[in-house]
Amino acid sequence: MGLSIDALHAQPTTSTIKIRTKDVDVFYDNRPAIKGVSLDLYKNEIVAFIGPSGCGKSTFLRTLNRMNDTIPGCRVEGGVYLDGEDIYDDKIDVVMLRARVGMVFQKPNPFPKSIYENVAYGPKIHGLARGRSDLNDIVEESLLRAGLWDEVKDRLNARATGLSGGQQQRLCIARAIAVSPEVILMDEPCSALDPIATARIEELIDELSRQFTIVMVTHSMQQAARVSDRVAYFHMGELIEINATDKVFTQPDNQLTEAYITGRFG
Ligand code: ADP
Repeated sequence: MGLSIDALHAQPTTSTIKIRTKDVDVFYDNRPAIKGVSLDLYKNEIVAFIGPSGCGKSTFLRTLNRMNDTIPGCRVEGGVYLDGEDIYDDKIDVVMLRARVGMVFQKPNPFPKSIYENVAYGPKIHGLARGRSDLNDIVEESLLRAGLWDEVKDRLNARATGLSGGQQQRLCIARAIAVSPEVILMDEPCSALDPIATARIEELIDELSRQFTIVMVTHSMQQAARVSDRVAYFHMGELIEINATDKVFTQPDNQLTEAYITGRFG
């Protein structure tokens, strides 16, 4: 017996929610940058945040692994839950949190160390390897999954900063993967890359979503359309709409979204 239409179109159940945010506000020195954002992010989906520059996409992304903690004057209110657990609770180990919810930045930022050390560092500090050969396996596996292994396997001890920009960004993805995250946040991961390097990262994002939840900020609507399952449109600190990517780009629910995607705003 085949699946019923209802089953095919079933909404993800609450058990597949990976991150839930509830009424999140973010302030910089008491100036609001994010206002009352509530949304659910599901396992294994790719969600793109789009909207005009300064609308709060990066700020909101950073609330998902407490990266805003590192910005002086930044205050977060409301709730952010990873597998139902409040990540802003005092008991939370932030280093562990950021391993579970990894981040890839706009500009590739490898450590000024070898390619091997860039990937091995996280598993070492988190005690994920039982010895050298185990660590070697984690490094190889992470580089393989980041689509970089073949290009670097003969020069693992070379400095990471000698790689091309696209390779450095794949190395940063390998570094994030190496600590077995559950969610990967990407803040405009291709904005410093050429079109070929961008295409490789986009393919990689698609593959990685089989295992991780991926949340990316992009200024490119084309990229959001190519890569994401759902799109969230932000406007002046508010979440205006989150819907399936096709819907957002063909039949958005909100006029503000429509104005943005048709180029009348932003
Ligand atoms: P987007 O990612 O959509 O371009 P941001 O999250 O970077 O938007 O910025 C949202 C608002 O917060 C903007 O008004 C911006 O000026 C402000 N902002 C962002 N980062 C900081 C910061 N470190 N200090 C003070 N204000 C900031």
